[in-house]
This record gives sequence, structure tokens and C-alpha cells, in this order.
Amino acid sequence: MATDLEIARAATLLPIGEIAARAGIPDDALIPYGKTKAKIDLGFAVAGGAKRGKLVLVTGISPTPAGEGKTTTTIGLGDALNALGTRTMICLREPSLGPCFGVKGGATGGGRAQVAPMEDINLHFTGDFHAITSANNLAAAMLDNHLYWGNELGIDPRRVTWRRAMDMNDRNLRNMVLGLGGAAQGVPREDGFDITVASEVMAVFCLAKDLPDLQARLGRMILATTRDGRSVTAADIKADGAMAALLRDALAPNLVQTLEGSPALVHGGPFANIAHGCNSVVATRLGLSLADVVVTEAGFGADLGAEKFLDIKCRSAGLAPDACVIVATIRALKMHGGVAKADLGREDVAALKAGMVNLVRHVENMGKFGLPVVVALNAFTTDTPAEVAVVQQAMAALGAEAVLCTHWADGAAGAAELARAVQRRLAAGEARFHPLYDIRLPLAEKLDVIAREIYHAAEVQMPPAVAARLQRFEEQGFREVPVCVAKTQYSFSADATKLGAPSGHVLPVREVRLSAGAGFVVAVCGEIMTMPGLPRRPAAEGIGLDAEGRIDGLF
Ligand code: ADP
Ligand code: MG
Repeated sequence: MATDLEIARAATLLPIGEIAARAGIPDDALIPYGKTKAKIDLGFAVAGGAKRGKLVLVTGISPTPAGEGKTTTTIGLGDALNALGTRTMICLREPSLGPCFGVKGGATGGGRAQVAPMEDINLHFTGDFHAITSANNLAAAMLDNHLYWGNELGIDPRRVTWRRAMDMNDRNLRNMVLGLGGAAQGVPREDGFDITVASEVMAVFCLAKDLPDLQARLGRMILATTRDGRSVTAADIKADGAMAALLRDALAPNLVQTLEGSPALVHGGPFANIAHGCNSVVATRLGLSLADVVVTEAGFGADLGAEKFLDIKCRSAGLAPDACVIVATIRALKMHGGVAKADLGREDVAALKAGMVNLVRHVENMGKFGLPVVVALNAFTTDTPAEVAVVQQAMAALGAEAVLCTHWADGAAGAAELARAVQRRLAAGEARFHPLYDIRLPLAEKLDVIAREIYHAAEVQMPPAVAARLQRFEEQGFREVPVCVAKTQYSFSADATKLGAPSGHVLPVREVRLSAGAGFVVAVCGEIMTMPGLPRRPAAEGIGLDAEGRIDGLF
């Protein structure tokens, strides 16, 4: 069977100008980066005109090692809608080099549902992540320089919370002491690196509406605390202007195409734990100004990705989605029903029925936001007709449609039925979107609503010191902001081994952090890795160049 890279390479890509013309982007707004990539002029992108499109969110069941295929389905659905004559724009996150060289591989879809050129998009693309990394590290350099030249602001070197960033999985950089070597080499202090996608600059970049908003958010980011307990922001050390300058070109969204010639905006890529996990607001809004339908993906399962997309991104950007697609696979549902990964190839209706609880809860949860749901059953060759019938019957009982789709194998044609189901939901105009909670609630109560309504937890527990910190954020003026929960993506609970649909558990909050520029408070529930490591056998070992200098081994 052909690999994703072989399928992508066999496709003939259109000149990017032709894709732009199809999407309604005028020639003078197109900034080509080579033949098959372009940036869209930021002035054009943010002027945008009136929103005309409908917004469809693609999310998923709780992820398992069996794979679900949200990106693949976002692309397949976009291709299928275009094939049916609905002008559709696909909006995706940019891949990070960390997972690409680690375990997960790239993030450009798979099979016949991919965005291209996949080697470029997965590796440096148009340089956005390098710009974000540089902006992050400029703030770090200016802060240490401030300490070096006399520390006018009285920053406590032990309470610098700003970390350096790099777009690489490198566990050796997690914790370090820098500034060693004597008085001329800086002020020694503890520091560490986060992967670029976990940096607040990435979250700010993706939530900013335009350049002035970008700079204002950058300026509000808190880098450190003074000896007398005051917050020091990027604006306090006058880093915000230069950071915005570094990010100016990057904020223009990137246009590429799918293997079937649909336009796709691939822009920004924050983590879905420590941040909100979806592509830039600038790209989504541009898509909505151009197309009749925008199909976009949120990271992880719907309890994390969709909740944050809806409560953080949509609320902050004034977006109101019109429908939601939940991607499920029979393999993953069987894992939720207790089957080991090695046994997924065998029909197991009983385990599937047991694992359906995970999908059912995600479907019910999306109803709590007022969104109509279509379930996309992403077909694998091992699925049996009896298993497909189980999922469809269970969904019909909930009043939701589950559509079997084969876009991975067949491209647009394989998602035509899914596209028709989505068109029907959009035409019916059933969406009554509202965020889950009132933004005016105290921070702890917002967290409580998410834990009870979405995770079915019995209660939230936090040490008194953490509760006091939440209180302090509110006193600092950060009460009316959403809460971004950082917890395992594998379970509704904070325990990654509790598959299916656990209820009545305790959500333990270990730590809270204020992302003042992004405009949310992060509640850390369990171990959250902001600088991943590489596995024993990293994917990078299999990547290289062939005799013609083409990139090989990406997946
Ligand atoms: P997600 O966005 O949910 O993380 P992706 O869409 O990136 O998932 O897919 C993960 C991997 O699974 C990709 O390598 C993709 O090629 C593969 N995949 C997706 N759908 C299928 C399918 N129906 N059959 C086989 N492999 C698939
Ligand atoms: Mg994905």
C-alpha cells in the first residue's frame, strides 16, 4: 500500500494562484512562497468584509493509540463539500517539528485526504514557527539583559516565569541554570525551554485579530514577578514592539491546497493542553469572509479541543459555529470498550457496545453548546458491517446521524454522504450556539462547570495555595476570562487509564497559571509536558533524502 508521502507526491498540484482564484482571493492579495504555497496579505485578510460562511467544527472522541483521523476527516469533508458545489475553505493548524520527528509524524491528513506539499508543511513551511520562537526568545533575552544592567524594575530572578522556546522535542532543555561563568556572563538563574507550540506567544498569535491586537496581547504577557510581588509584563521591559515586528509577516495566513484542489488555510498551531489547540483567528475569519462553509479542526477529543474552541476561541473572536462533526473509529471505540491494541483487527460487537459510551457522551456534550452533531465514522479496513450497524443504531437513538466515510481510501467521493449530512444540518439552521458558562462567574466556578458538565466529575479539588492563587488572579483583574484545562486527552477524567466514560471522579488541580496575553487561566490537572522528549526510536531516524534529493520517510 502507498504511504501518505507517496500518495501526496503522485498528485499534481495546481499553481497556488489558481487555488487562490478559486477561493476568491484577488491576485494582489497573494504573496507566493514558491509555486504551491502563499501567504495572504494581512490587510486583505483582516479587512475580510462581512462574514458570509457557516462554521463547521471537526472534533473527535477521546483519542486512543488506535488513531481517529480528525485532520484527515476535516480535509475529506472539505473536499467533498467542494465537490458538491459548496464553496468550502479548510482551516487547519500548522504541524510542529516535535511530533513530526517523534512518534506521531506529520499533521497534514492521510491517504487520499491530505494537504500538500506535505514535506514543506510538516517541516519549515513559511517560517511562522521560527518567527514565533524568535519573538519568544527575544523577550527572554531582553529580560535577562534587564537583570544584567542593574534590574531597574526589581525583578526577582527566582520568580522569572518566562521560559525560552524551541520547536523540537528535547528533554535535556527542560530545566537548566543559565548565566554561569562570572559577572560578565549575565545573572545566574534557573530556566528551561518549552516547545514553541506550548509558548504563550503561540496562543497569543492564534487569538489575535490583527496586528494592534497582537501587540497589545504580547504587551500584557507576564514574564516575571518583582521582589515586592508585582507582575512584570513584556510591555514593562519594552519587548512588545519588537516582538510584534518579528511576527508581522507570520500573522498573514498561509494558503495551500488539498490533493483534490480545495483551498486550505494552514496557520498557527497551539498545544491543546496548555493552550486552546486550534488554528489562528485570522485564518478562520478570512475563511468565513470568502467561503460558504469553513471546516476546521480542534485538537484532542471534544472534551478538551472542542470545549476550548467554543469557550475560548469562539467567545474571544465572536464566532458562532453552525455544526459539529465528531470523528470516531470502530477501532478506537473498541479500545474504549476494553480491547487491547493488538486485538483490534477482530470483530467484537460486545466491546464496541461497551466503548460506545465515550462517543455518546461527546455527542451529548456538544448539545450543551447548542450545536447539531453529525458523527463521522472514519472507516478502517478491519471494520465489519455488524460493527457499523451498532454505531449507527446507537446514534439514531440519540437523534444523531452517524455516517460511514472512506475519504482516507477514496478521497472526496468517500465523504460525499458525510458532506450531505452536514449540508442538511446547516440548511436546517438548528444551531443555537452559546458558550458553556457565563464569563462573569468566578474562575473556580467556571472550572466547576466544565468538570461537572463535560467531564462528569463529582468535584474539583485544589490545594488552598492554588485556590488562593486563583483569587489573586481575580484581584489582578483577570476574573472575566475563560479557563483552559490542561489534562490528559485520553480520558474524561485526569487519569489516562480510565477509558470509556468515567463519572463521579475528582478533578485534581495541581497548579494554575495566568496567560494574561492570551487571556485565559490555565488549570493544570496532572502531569503536563510543555517540552516533550523523543521516544527510544524517533521518527527522525527514518527521515532522509533520496537519490534525487527528495524528502523521504515523513508520515
Ligand atoms: P488526528 O487529526 O485525529 O490526530 P489524523 O487525521 O492526523 O488524526 O490521522 C492520524 C493517522 O491515521 C494518519 O497517519 C492517517 O493517515 C491515519 N488514518 C486516518 N484515517 C485512516 C483510515 N481510515 N485508515 C487508515 N489510516 C487512517
Ligand atoms: Mg489532527
